[in-house]
Amino acid sequence: MAVNRTHTMGRGGTCICPKCGYEAPHHRGVPCQEERCPECGAKLLRKGSYHHDLLDKKRQKQQKGV
Ligand SMILES: [Zn+2]
Repeated sequence: MAVNRTHTMGRGGTCICPKCGYEAPHHRGVPCQEERCPECGAKLLRKGSYHHDLLDKKRQKQQKGV
């Protein structure tokens, strides 16, 4: 039994720049990672995704420590 789990988290959605916080609407069929931030050129992340969550946690750690 193959379960096809696509990472569709509902339609629409938002891509966010991990560097500067720029947000852009997610284009259906185009991964956020393939989009670039027009402000700083960084790869965008899907807002609310696992990776974005990780980044948030990393940031919080950095703010507390160092
Ligand atoms: Zn940016």
